[in-house]
Amino acid sequence: MSTAFYAGSFDPFTLGHLSIVERGLHIFDRIYIGIGVNINKPGAERDALARLDAIRKAVSHFGEKVQVISYCGLTYVKAKELGADCLLRGLRNSGDFLYEQQIADVNRQMSGIETVFMISLPEYASVSSSVVRELERYGADVSRFVPTK
Ligand code: ADP
Repeated sequence: MSTAFYAGSFDPFTLGHLSIVERGLHIFDRIYIGIGVNINKPGAERDALARLDAIRKAVSHFGEKVQVISYCGLTYVKAKELGADCLLRGLRNSGDFLYEQQIADVNRQMSGIETVFMISLPEYASVSSSVVRELERYGADVSRFVPTK
């Protein structure tokens, strides 16, 4: 049984994230989605709980193969604790690549864990949580970017 740990802020979880999970299931038997919680940020735990709920609804059709959790601390430590074989990350563009390269390298050096990257589908390459948050702030309809359930 191969297991991947897909960690992120998911603030909010978008169709781009959902697509990575869906495609990841063609490679892995099980995926843990981990919402990273920064305990130093006021209200972070409450926000993460709300996100946990929303993401669980969005991935419920995958059944037991996808588990959603929240976690504090280092991603590679949590991945080991869960028994994950690797980390899963999405890449949209060269900006993502430069950032992800560094994180993946440090995670491998610290724990030996490898990171598997999936290139975003073209239709999701411009979808980002920060853009969705910005649109939401001004009351715009973001339904084309986020799961509807
Ligand atoms: P972070 O961990 O930097 O807070 P996010 O929570 O936004 O990142 O995203 C988690 C992972 O999903 C990252 O690997 C990110 O590159 C990837 N990702 C984000 N948006 C998309 C998208 N539209 N298509 C594919 N992958 C994405």
